[in-house]
Amino acid sequence: MEVVAMKKKDKESQPERETTEALLAEGRVFRPLPELVVDANLNPNDYEEAVQKARHDLEGFWEEAAEDLHWFKRWDKVLDRSEAPFFKWFVGGKTNIAYNALDRHITTHRKNKVAIIHEREDGSRERLTYYDLYREANRFANVLKSLGIQKGDRVAIYLPNIPEIAIVMLGCAKVGAIHSVVYAGFSAAALRERINHAEARLVVTVDGFQRNGKTIRLKEVVDEAMTACPSVETVIVIQRMGVEVDMSDGRYLWFHDLMKGEPASFETMAMDATDPLYILYTSGTTGKPKGVVHCHGGYGVGITRTLKWVFDIKETDIFWCAADPGWVTGHSYIVYGPLCAGTTTVMYEGHPLFPGPDRMWQIIEKYGINILYTAPTTIRMLMRFGSQHPKKYDLSTLRILGTVGEPINPEAWVWYYENIGNHNCPIMDTWWQTETGMFMVTPTPCNVLKPGSAFKPFPGVHVDVVDAHGEPVQAGKGGYVVVKEPWPAMLQGLYKDPEKYKEVYWSKIPGMYLAGDIATKDEDGYFRFQGRSDDVLNTAGHRIGTAEVESALVSHKYVAEAACIGVPDKVKGEVAKLFVTLKEGVEEDEATLVNELKAHVRKELGPIVVIREISFESKLPKTRSGKIMRRVLKARELGLSEGDLSTLDD
Ligand code: ATP
Ligand code: MG
Repeated sequence: MEVVAMKKKDKESQPERETTEALLAEGRVFRPLPELVVDANLNPNDYEEAVQKARHDLEGFWEEAAEDLHWFKRWDKVLDRSEAPFFKWFVGGKTNIAYNALDRHITTHRKNKVAIIHEREDGSRERLTYYDLYREANRFANVLKSLGIQKGDRVAIYLPNIPEIAIVMLGCAKVGAIHSVVYAGFSAAALRERINHAEARLVVTVDGFQRNGKTIRLKEVVDEAMTACPSVETVIVIQRMGVEVDMSDGRYLWFHDLMKGEPASFETMAMDATDPLYILYTSGTTGKPKGVVHCHGGYGVGITRTLKWVFDIKETDIFWCAADPGWVTGHSYIVYGPLCAGTTTVMYEGHPLFPGPDRMWQIIEKYGINILYTAPTTIRMLMRFGSQHPKKYDLSTLRILGTVGEPINPEAWVWYYENIGNHNCPIMDTWWQTETGMFMVTPTPCNVLKPGSAFKPFPGVHVDVVDAHGEPVQAGKGGYVVVKEPWPAMLQGLYKDPEKYKEVYWSKIPGMYLAGDIATKDEDGYFRFQGRSDDVLNTAGHRIGTAEVESALVSHKYVAEAACIGVPDKVKGEVAKLFVTLKEGVEEDEATLVNELKAHVRKELGPIVVIREISFESKLPKTRSGKIMRRVLKARELGLSEGDLSTLDD
């Protein structure tokens, strides 16, 4: 295996720069820049040491990580396994994640450091220092107290990517209320379902926000939901766009009126490490959303440690996680993680393509962003518009890139690496879930990377690939992704449904957490995630991940995105039907393209993939978090019920 160093791009000295195909075919790997490793929070030796330490003393390893946070009272026991699979971390410890995100920074040099940079779609911006954010969160905690919201009460937050969402989340944490953020792209019915399931006493929303050049009147969606939300006593409305809203329902109150009267100091409540911090419903790619519960202690420890090591957070960094706070990525790595780590976090309210496909690159230049963390679906979308857009901007401040949400196909990985990172930034492909709370399988900047692989489990995390009996599979063979030991940011269960928690995650392979994904490990132990375990084609006894077929397709120069589903076949059991969106400017006729793509998949994966049909689409059905909903394509194809569509983007 040849190892190449990531080098500063030097066009002159690389006249025959590798094509993507050659790069992948040669199986080359990427070693980080020496100058990056030298200053990294974790160097290759530390990394090895951490892996060894965690292997021999899992609890000691995470206990050390917990020292990074403030504890009102130290824990009595690091890990309590007595009620497995309801594992409890840092039992007896008292802490509060909001204290760690804000209060403790106020007595340090971070007091007047920028905590949040917020960019509106119209290009105007707002900056909040740690001290500003601390005082606002305190005010909101006082508002909650005045409204009688107590420890354990549920607060639904239906807000877009604006600073107030952080203020409200942190204010809830300060009083011990459990927040449940509902992504602002969800419909009234989806919002209502989540509010009612959580039995929220309070809802926080906004009059409107900017998206794609339009004002989205979010409050109107709440009005519609409120017709059948009996648990809700109060709805707090933030005034942002100044659009007219109907406040006639006695439950509605203005945020600014409430905040005005409240003091900016608040004594943050000492919570048990295991007390719930939030409920977050999963994105619903595979079915009905599940109410995942996370807590103050172990969750705080897990996200802070992973963020510091994987994104190598430095005191001067500007960190942009371009997700939405409505998803777990936003909870862990826009709000809580970056603030606990004391870094500057960027929030962008608008659409990544507004007003044009260069918007993200422009924001990077504007703020001198050092770390960019986004999703493969966004990368592929921007790739479709071509590399001339990033070329117009100074992206040289970038040091590390990241991706999350779906497998990243090597083609997109290399495009991101070359065109955004300019050959200088390692790509952290982080595999994790709403349920895991924190990165689970991920490289750090000191590891050797392979495009399309999420590397190996983070130190202290025991992810493996096994067969249906829980036995490890051979290198190169596909299997189920499991976690064999508890980890600190693990879900505390599913809200109001302990039985479902046991059944969904812990019953199929006894003693292991079943993630629901399939993956392979290569001879070096590198993971390649292939998709959901139910997204598998079973052709003549061969099991092929649909993601593998899709990855082969998108490595073709004309293909922007692809979805693969299995359709029944009398002879083979199941064969593939492919849905493809093309890059801009492709002029070939359909019949030629179909033949070319079939030949291409065959070349990449061999003849075991039998393709029945290729259908060209202008877009694919996706969840609001940007994941392709294969089950919708499949249901349409087979004429079945499409099931719960509340998470389908329009
Ligand atoms: P639901 O569980 O309701 O179907 P969801 O699984 O889409 O929704 P999330 O918890 O947001 O909701 O997503 C986690 C899933 O995303 C993982 O199980 C995996 O399938 C996929 N995923 C996340 N990161 C990666 C990654 N780096 N590589 C491959 N797949 C990833
Ligand atoms: Mg899931």
